[in-house]
Amino acid sequence: MRRKKQVVDAAIARADRDQGLLLVLTGNGKGKSSSAFGMAARALGHGLRVGVAQFIKGNSDTGEEAFFRRQPGVTWQVLGEGFTWETQDRARDAATARRGWAQAREMLRDPNLALVILDELTYPLKYGWLDLDEVLADLAARPSGQHVVITGRGAHEALCAAADTVTDLADVKHAFRAGVRAQRGIDL
Ligand code: ATP
Ligand code: MG
Repeated sequence: MRRKKQVVDAAIARADRDQGLLLVLTGNGKGKSSSAFGMAARALGHGLRVGVAQFIKGNSDTGEEAFFRRQPGVTWQVLGEGFTWETQDRARDAATARRGWAQAREMLRDPNLALVILDELTYPLKYGWLDLDEVLADLAARPSGQHVVITGRGAHEALCAAADTVTDLADVKHAFRAGVRAQRGIDL
């Protein structure tokens, strides 16, 4: 434990560079998207501009969307509204995802955006709706100072390999399993 702290302290003492970072927040535990939105708040607090692309529209009435859409430095796009979960029209879903990625790519080409959040991007990749190599190439081609946060369960190994910071959130316990429905301010 003590040795680990020494190693971490030495690394912190060495860390003096600025760089646009790629972060992946994955795993089954709660806290992926809300962590990403915490970083959005941090960036805005510094007067930086933030782009958010949501690939799966889970809930149409979230507090984060209501709050961040009101902030002048935020571009907020929902890119997965056309997914046909029920009808299972794979070709249509792939087309929706590709159209969405074209819009996300615009954010990755915008040097005015200091932070881009690709919320739930792991799912269209997992279902094969988006081409992983194309996504990795677009991420690599972004402006050098731009930070990107990707959230979602089951992040592909190659995505984690390309990232600078990867956090795997563990599901130790969730109130949902005790019968508590999603709570405003906590879950949405
Ligand atoms: P959050 O947005 O709260 O940070 P998340 O992004 O980590 O959650 P998602 O898989 O995107 O997790 O799920 C979003 C919603 O599902 C939230 O309402 C969240 O509380 C809930 N949730 C997250 N993890 C679990 C879990 N392990 N069991 C049940 N519900 C969960
Ligand atoms: Mg999420």
